[in-house]
Amino acid sequence: MNKQIEFQEKLTQNFKNSNFTKKTLVFGEGADTPVLMMIGEAPGGDEEKQGRPFVGKAGKNLSSFLEVIGLQREEIYITNVVKLRPTKDSPKTGKAVNRPPSKEEISFFLPYLKEEIQLISPKVIVTLGNVPLKAVTDDKGITIGDVHGKPYSLEQTRVLFPLYHPAAIIYNRGLTNIYQQDLLVLKELLRGIK
Ligand code: URA
Repeated sequence: MNKQIEFQEKLTQNFKNSNFTKKTLVFGEGADTPVLMMIGEAPGGDEEKQGRPFVGKAGKNLSSFLEVIGLQREEIYITNVVKLRPTKDSPKTGKAVNRPPSKEEISFFLPYLKEEIQLISPKVIVTLGNVPLKAVTDDKGITIGDVHGKPYSLEQTRVLFPLYHPAAIIYNRGLTNIYQQDLLVLKELLRGIK
């Protein structure tokens, strides 16, 4: 059986037996042997509906990001640390709204993310925001503000390149230039690796 399908079936089975509310799992997707793997935090509403990571608004951000670094979506692999949409009920509307992933959700999905990284075996990992950065480095003290835009060696064979989460730019316009500069550094890095 294809290793990725095997991986997804194992995760689905263990998720069914977990204590989490049974929600749609949104798996990673993309090229089989990509140079670059991108890791986000968790799916949002559009991703949950379509069962795919980074579609809807987040997907639009991603497309402009990929344009800057000169890659197509199909050429990379995209996933999230947490593979369900974390929600809470809005006190105003009673409807489900996004919330940050809980410690329990991150701990449950972390071993699968680690396995996924070995399976896909990319040369470069781009983390988007703090949640995937802390997950990939196993360092709770690390923060994106200190390390964004700088390559780090990971497991000796890979390069970790931390970026802000694209949504951070929507909330903090001051980050736009910094983000663009970081993307240009990433583009140069990829030119040397590809
Ligand atoms: N934000 C993320 O981090 N991941 C998604 O899949 C969508 C939005």
